Amino acid sequence: MAATILQGKEVAQSIRAELANEVAELNKQGIVPGLTVVIVGDDPASHSYVRGKAKGCEEVGISSEIIMKDADITEEELLIIIQQLNENPNVNGILVQLPLPAHISEHAVIEAIAPEKDVDGFHPISIGNMVLGNETMLPCTPHGIIELIKRTGTSMAGKHAVVIGRSNIVGKPVSLLLQQENATVTMCHSRTQNLEDYTQKADILVVATGRAHMIGKEHVKPGAVVIDVGVNRIETGKLVGDVKFDEVKEVASFLTPVPGGVGPMTITMLLKNTVVAAKKQAKQ
Ligand code: NDP
Repeated sequence: MAATILQGKEVAQSIRAELANEVAELNKQGIVPGLTVVIVGDDPASHSYVRGKAKGCEEVGISSEIIMKDADITEEELLIIIQQLNENPNVNGILVQLPLPAHISEHAVIEAIAPEKDVDGFHPISIGNMVLGNETMLPCTPHGIIELIKRTGTSMAGKHAVVIGRSNIVGKPVSLLLQQENATVTMCHSRTQNLEDYTQKADILVVATGRAHMIGKEHVKPGAVVIDVGVNRIETGKLVGDVKFDEVKEVASFLTPVPGGVGPMTITMLLKNTVVAAKKQAKQ
């Protein structure tokens, strides 16, 4: 039987509706959650992501500001901007769009963000708390993936989850969150030998490699939940995932499309983190 297509866009829409209600309640208390996005340089993909984030904010009633800086800004100048945002009580969340130009240390910039305003969940303190299982700001894409899997009604407890990719922003954190949901997790990467030996045993398969169409039906256990994180632009200009959608949908039980799967969930989790941050900061 063909897989149910996990429409992240629809799930994201329903979470955004819940968030809009929460924001309306906060407004009654005089609180308007605020997100500031800092973007350096003119990379078209980064600008498109930032526009998507601003649109999402508008949808749920978060006040958003975009600070655009030329690629020749110095690290010191950027750190001063972050410091000012840290001190601004109207700014509840700060996001620096990555990647940054090579002369700026991403590490230094992320560490400069006040952890309570780190809505991307990339600060070492946020990551440390996530590893410890403490309540914290979770990174948006991995958090969105877990929410999507939950919406399938599939219990992760005791299942074998295989994650392909071990980046700091997707593979590593999603592996950890799956483990916290009591899945048994295997992590694969570019040095893994005989990848299909692992993927064929996966009840839940998360693919985050950035390699267009690398996963075919021969990799997938019948009935598996398959989450395709990859976003790849192929020669025709079309956006495709890391998974061969047409053939894998014939064997999986659930499959995310690209676009319209994980992507909309990522932005929605950013909005959620901003609302949570605003609530916490209002209490302090
Ligand atoms: P990275 O390039 O940082 O990491 C890719 C990972 O895939 C690495 O760990 C690499 O292994 C592994 N890998 C590469 N080739 C293979 C292979 N042939 N077999 C097994 N493993 C392989 O990418 P990201 O994690 O940042 O992103 C992954 C994809 O997800 C990209 O397409 C990106 O655009 C997309 N993405 C989508 C988001 C969304 O919201 N939809 C958000 C973030 C990312 P090794 O470590 O050994 O090099």
